Amino acid sequence: MPEAYARPEPSLIPILRPRCPLCQGRMMLIRIEPRQNGADLRTFECSTCEHIYNVLAEDPTKSTEA
Ligand SMILES: [Zn+2]
Repeated sequence: MPEAYARPEPSLIPILRPRCPLCQGRMMLIRIEPRQNGADLRTFECSTCEHIYNVLAEDPTKSTEA
C-alpha cells in the first residue's frame, strides 16, 4: 500500500467522492477550480457512464469552526 494513502491531502478530506446520480458508480475528482471566499468548485466524472457532477465546497476551516 502506498504511503500517500496514510497521509491524504488536507484539501481532499472535507469532501468524499460522491456516487453517480445516474448509475450509482464511483465518481473521480478530475478538476478543482478556486473560487472566492476560499471555496472550491470540484468537478467529478463518473468512471462508468462519464456523467459530470459539480460540487461547490466551501473552506472547511471557516465553515466547521464558526
Ligand atoms: Zn454514472
